[in-house]
Amino acid sequence: MNARVQDEPLSGDAKQEWEHRTLDACFLGPYGENDGTLERLVVEFLRDHVYWRRNFHPEDPPAIPTRAAAHPAYQAFEARMRRELHSLSAALKQSVPFHSPRYIGHMASDLLLPGLAAQMLTLPYNPNNVSEDAAPVTVDLEVRVGLQFARLFGYCDDTARPDCAFGHLTSGGTLSNYQALRLALALKAFPVALMAAGVPGIDAPRTAREAFNLPRTKGVELFERWLKWLAACTASEQMHWRARVEAERIEQRGIAGFFNLHRALQIPVVLAPVTAHYSWSKGAKLLGLGRDQLWKVEERGMRMDADALEATLERCASRDQPVLLVVGVLGTTEYGTVDPIDRIVDARDRWATKGLGFGVHVDGAWGGYLATLFRNADGSLRARADVAAEHACFPQPAVYDAFAALGRTDSITVDPHKLGYLPYGAGAFITRDQRPVGLLAEQADYVFHGDAAPDYFARHRRLGQVIPEGSKSGAAAAAVYVTHRVLPLDHANFGALPRQTIRAAEHFVARAEAFALDVAPFARVTIPFMPDSNLVGLALNPAGNVEVARANRFVLDLYADLHCDSRQPLQMRQFFGSSTTLRPGIVGAEGLAGLCARLGLDPATFDDGDADRLVILRHTLMNPYLLDRENDISYVGRYFDYLGERIRRMLGP
Ligand SMILES: *Cc1c(COP(=O)(O)O)cnc(C)c1O
Repeated sequence: MNARVQDEPLSGDAKQEWEHRTLDACFLGPYGENDGTLERLVVEFLRDHVYWRRNFHPEDPPAIPTRAAAHPAYQAFEARMRRELHSLSAALKQSVPFHSPRYIGHMASDLLLPGLAAQMLTLPYNPNNVSEDAAPVTVDLEVRVGLQFARLFGYCDDTARPDCAFGHLTSGGTLSNYQALRLALALKAFPVALMAAGVPGIDAPRTAREAFNLPRTKGVELFERWLKWLAACTASEQMHWRARVEAERIEQRGIAGFFNLHRALQIPVVLAPVTAHYSWSKGAKLLGLGRDQLWKVEERGMRMDADALEATLERCASRDQPVLLVVGVLGTTEYGTVDPIDRIVDARDRWATKGLGFGVHVDGAWGGYLATLFRNADGSLRARADVAAEHACFPQPAVYDAFAALGRTDSITVDPHKLGYLPYGAGAFITRDQRPVGLLAEQADYVFHGDAAPDYFARHRRLGQVIPEGSKSGAAAAAVYVTHRVLPLDHANFGALPRQTIRAAEHFVARAEAFALDVAPFARVTIPFMPDSNLVGLALNPAGNVEVARANRFVLDLYADLHCDSRQPLQMRQFFGSSTTLRPGIVGAEGLAGLCARLGLDPATFDDGDADRLVILRHTLMNPYLLDRENDISYVGRYFDYLGERIRRMLGP
């Protein structure tokens, strides 16, 4: 029988049924329902691994004598190992129960079986994806994962094309975002180096200012022209020019040396929404740009305000302030909202013609996998109506437009260890065009390839040259690759997972509205921002209270029973949630006034102390079993029942 992925359209009910029965098989399950499958896989592939060891050179005698286990030293070691493993296993029972539909806290849930099994199966082979020498199999898989993502996002995945995309894995979104900064800076500064080195005959820009503000596509073209030109030189000329250009690069001179030399240039800024993840601040520090160079663009309803972006870009242009990257967030970490990616790339294209070139990076660490909902199996984009038919309100037109524009962006971060339901640490960085990646290489021998560039895989297998890490797990790459093969990244296959979570979020919103009416005598409850995806906040305030400080104490009391407390048995907890805060400076005056009005709070009671921000509950609705059809249980409903009871006990008569 052919392994079947769902490729022919099934109609309504049959499709739903197929989808639910597929979900049954995907995870170990809240009750460990699929334990038999996982156990068989682990045992089967562990044995398989052992045979592999034995069959390497079966003529070699066993190095460990068959009677070794009889020795007291052996037994003492084994006893110690067992004791320590038992105590580890016991301690781990206090872990966070991510698998449970009662867990709606942070961005974690059950793990997909194919990924978990692939990871476990690969571990004993211990491949190191820093180089193909240490990982002949899994480095290839990692490069293929990059192509799987490229297709998902609408980048070119045809490896025969020079402008094919390229992606690799990282330890997580933080390093992927950092990689985006590194690549953007390398590409931005390279034309300046070419100009400063005085390379003839490649039509390099004449001034540092022009060179530093080239649009990204023009920068790539220039880089290609340089490689071609170099390939036509004699070997000694190549050595000479290569050394000259290398000496001028920002990676050689450092930020201080580079900008001291090019006094006409200012250090570039990164524009990110105020809702951006703190990895952007880490990245700005790590790259040596400094946090001052991370400019926050205002938002509206927790989505980047495209007009504010335009105003910021105008300010940059008028002050001769170069822009390195504009970051759009696809699913903010705190609110699950989606920035107008389409308007950001429009702005990039407009400003490219006006002498202010910059790249656009999408931080889709959280929301990247939601793109599966918008993708057909053949890689084409689905119509909005088709996606909308599966949901109550999702996707809002602006959200659809943001996802539809992904193919026009320059690079994307996505975290398989978040909405990819895979073990940590698996983040991914994908760049739309592979060509400038050589600029990241530690040894610049890329230049010798010139026209005779090796094929796509040969070129990219030397991952250690470009990734920010050194040694890293090949098992992680195996896990992501296998999962994407079992559940291809389109709406009919992987899409079943985000579809569930979006439905759960819509259910949550509906229940929250009913809940607000229900507890109205005791507390005012509102959803601060309508979610674009599957993160939903809940703001609460005791009825009659106008003070932010008291509302915060109340929500913190509620939250006290919603998070881990290692001093108590896990079972004492009914549900797990998370909390976040809304700072006036981030929400903006208008948004804050509206929210305070809905909650009955007086905005004047925000102060510099404990009440400088409003504390709210935050829920990540990614567990695939929140709506348990088998037993007709809605864990969302149960959660609200629980909250209602708590509120009545805290505030009731
Ligand atoms: C989680 C997250 C990150 C950081 O990713 P890690 O995998 O934790 O390093 C970055 N950006 C966004 C939007 C995120 O949600």
